[in-house]
Amino acid sequence: MKAAAVFPNRKSLEVVNDFPEPKMESPTAVKLRVLTVGVCGTDREIASFQYGFPPPAGSEFLVMGHECLGEIVEVGPEVQDFKPGDLAIPMVRRPCDHPECLACRAGRQDFCYTGDYRERGIKQMHGFLTELIVDEARYMNPVPPAIRDVAVLVEPLTIAEKGLIQALQIQKRLPWGGALKAVVLGAGPVGLLGAMALRRAGFSVTVYSRSREPDESADIVKAIGAKYISSQDRSIEQMAAEVGNIDVVYEATGASQLAFDVLAVLGTNGLFILTGVPGKHGPISLDTDTIMRNLVLKNQCVLGTVNAGKDAFQSAVADLTSFRATWPEAVKNLITGRFPLEKFAEPIHNQTGIKNIVEISK
Ligand SMILES: [Zn+2]
Ligand SMILES: [Zn+2]
Repeated sequence: MKAAAVFPNRKSLEVVNDFPEPKMESPTAVKLRVLTVGVCGTDREIASFQYGFPPPAGSEFLVMGHECLGEIVEVGPEVQDFKPGDLAIPMVRRPCDHPECLACRAGRQDFCYTGDYRERGIKQMHGFLTELIVDEARYMNPVPPAIRDVAVLVEPLTIAEKGLIQALQIQKRLPWGGALKAVVLGAGPVGLLGAMALRRAGFSVTVYSRSREPDESADIVKAIGAKYISSQDRSIEQMAAEVGNIDVVYEATGASQLAFDVLAVLGTNGLFILTGVPGKHGPISLDTDTIMRNLVLKNQCVLGTVNAGKDAFQSAVADLTSFRATWPEAVKNLITGRFPLEKFAEPIHNQTGIKNIVEISK
């Protein structure tokens, strides 16, 4: 079968035509026909060859793809929760092998202590940009047929969901429940999905991003009842003055200078959630006295978050189902490009539109 792969030694992206079909090797495994796979900044980072994303041991290539929607075509004899025909989203990260890693041993490899976790399509395990995959049923998340057309967005939405789960836990420190003014930095897919999740959780949301209107992301922001402000029109201070006390910032740009500049305008009792992974560009200067004074005197909290557990996947499926019903056009408009498997490298090399996906089967 065909698979879309990265060859680190050759520094190339290629379609492999004779990738072996996966076998059902355990009674608790499931086999899926891959329907769609989303492309994101992580794939772009892998294809930049600047940081190591090792293939599985003994393989000269890594099959890419971690944002997958599949249809179950076969289940092992001990699988209870899935049957052929069901739609499912596989989780990406697999636990490390260290007995002392409390997170992995608790089934929460998204909090892995050792860093020796593996990730399908990213680190030491083949991904989902192929025709058939086999995995353990416990890593599958069921998806209702009603969101089949947009369910490829579940995995990127889990970033916001894990952030939100933690945000609501942290803001429980405020006995009145906290206040609900959020700023989202960035209007790419992670930012827009985060804005939708925050809207559904009851926040008023302002998305602060570079592009000026007219802009397809700004249109989506407005369609979900949020406000769009271009950083070309308003400084950070002007944006903050328009919002008022900023209770939550959800960062989805990976731009560290912007993030720390916005941290300076975070409100009293505010929470700053970082999700972007910046490239290493060397040091910048920061007004650390102001930042530290604010953190202390305003009871502020800064939270970094990566990957997601089962709870975040479940919230993502529930939220996406709700988004799809409430804002059908806005959700569908997140997907701006569709490519066949043979052309998977195009959206990785050239970021255009909002979210690009690879369509493998119908
Ligand atoms: Zn991704
Ligand atoms: Zn671990």
